[in-house]
Amino acid sequence: MTRPAVILWFRNDLRIHDHGLLSQAAQSGAIVIPVYCFDPRQFGTTAFGFPKTGPWRSQFLLESVTDLRRSLQKLGSDLIIRIGHPEVELPKLAQQLQREASLNIKTVAFHQEVTSEETTVEQALARSLKSLEIPVQTAWGHTLYHPDDLPFAIQAVPELFTNFRKQVEKSSTTQPCVPTPQELPPLPTPLDRGALPTLATLNISQPTIDPRCQFQVTGGETAGIDRVQDYIWQRDRLRIYKETRNGMLDPHDSTKFSPWLALGCLSPRYLYEQVTQYEAQRIRNDSTYWLIFELIWRDYFCFICAKHGDRVFYPDGLRGVRFPWKQDWVRFEQWKAGQTGFPLVDANMQELAATGFMSNRGRQNVASFLTKNLGIDWRMGAEYFESQLIDYDVCSNWGNWNYAAGVGNDARGFRFFNITKQARDYDPQGDYVKHWLPCLAQLPASQVHEPWKLSNAEQKQWGFRLGVDYPRPIVDLFKSAAANEKLYNAAFS
Ligand SMILES: Cc1cc2nc3c(=O)[nH]c(=O)nc-3n(C[C@H](O)[C@H](O)[C@H](O)COP(=O)(O)OP(=O)(O)OC[C@H]3O[C@@H](n4cnc5c(N)ncnc54)[C@H](O)[C@@H]3O)c2cc1C
Repeated sequence: MTRPAVILWFRNDLRIHDHGLLSQAAQSGAIVIPVYCFDPRQFGTTAFGFPKTGPWRSQFLLESVTDLRRSLQKLGSDLIIRIGHPEVELPKLAQQLQREASLNIKTVAFHQEVTSEETTVEQALARSLKSLEIPVQTAWGHTLYHPDDLPFAIQAVPELFTNFRKQVEKSSTTQPCVPTPQELPPLPTPLDRGALPTLATLNISQPTIDPRCQFQVTGGETAGIDRVQDYIWQRDRLRIYKETRNGMLDPHDSTKFSPWLALGCLSPRYLYEQVTQYEAQRIRNDSTYWLIFELIWRDYFCFICAKHGDRVFYPDGLRGVRFPWKQDWVRFEQWKAGQTGFPLVDANMQELAATGFMSNRGRQNVASFLTKNLGIDWRMGAEYFESQLIDYDVCSNWGNWNYAAGVGNDARGFRFFNITKQARDYDPQGDYVKHWLPCLAQLPASQVHEPWKLSNAEQKQWGFRLGVDYPRPIVDLFKSAAANEKLYNAAFS
């Protein structure tokens, strides 16, 4: 006799809490077969030749999958691991289970994604399964708001964030978290569970821990929930989130929830419920509102990508701005290595390379510098971020890069960040740049953000040699921006 079973394909939803498909499959009485597939295409190179999933992100992913396996084992099940293309591996597994374990595979269920690489795989999988007469079941699980609860259809998502937010805040409600299963049926035996790959088997080098790194993150739902409990409840930092979120040095200035959100180790609805509880038990203020506000940004980019398909990856972006982007590798390498001569840019780029993380303030400044001062193809920056960021999320990354490069749907003319003003505003004592660029440590706060202005006598006084200890600026901040502004305006005429 054949027993009904559901193959549950885990993707960027590496959790057991608030997992609609898992909850539903567990309640259905069917055997649940959880699977994760390491897709070699995700470990190749990007169009500009960066490792698609760099060492930090790969390590975070491996930790997250390990944690998911452990959680499923605690519930009485396990996580089957395969290395290969999902559209090949999942049908193969289905056939094996039908043949060897007498299971009747009712469906292959997964959370749908919105961008092209991911949807191409979904379509290929649906086609392969069709020939086995196995339907796919898809669900939505990545955003705070479910598309069914939006006050507009995906094709009518407002282009401007403010319009999106206002309409959502006025007319939509978030759905409550679904219950976490208390137990799951055991997997049939014998069935090869599959071993977790190592970084070496994925052809990825081991990331080296940098002594300047102050906040080590571990992948997985367990560590993600610990971070939420620590940040919101133990440290009580949510109370002052709005005031501190732009800080760059203290690990608790912002939530650092993003890596876990990106891989779905944390559900945004779980965060919403935590914030609501905090508001009921401790305080409701601008900061508690602002965290939800930021999660709405995340939703916005996801829905905008769902609306516009591939456009977010085009050189002229969502808005179709035909700017003559340069692919100047010499300058790009200086940016990437944190050798531009602008301490705020360099400190942030060095932090990214050393940890796989950069604050939002940092990201905005380095992206502005690359595109508005250097005039370099923004897609090179976006791909480098894709490779490096432990919180890489297709929609948030490419959407934010569109925005920063001025090719986004809400581009409002040529706007660039005055890097030195930003540095003075957000790092007034220079603590952040001195932390990441120890060669500037002896400079006074008043001069640390503009070392090129130091006279010879001042350099001698501080034991600092411009051009030796630290590079001279590779461009003039205002002249370079003015030149690119001209080109930008010409793109509209
Ligand atoms: C060029 C550029 C690239 C970016 N790439 C990514 C990316 O790949 N993945 C990613 O998650 N975020 C990205 N961001 C957005 C933002 O920088 C990070 O979400 C944030 O720095 C993460 O730190 P945090 O969790 O401490 O943020 P917090 O300030 O604590 O914010 C809480 C959460 O809100 C969401 N959020 C905050 N700001 C944004 C934003 N601008 N866009 C979308 N969601 C936001 C994130 O999920 C974040 O975890 C990018 C921003 C820029 C300017």
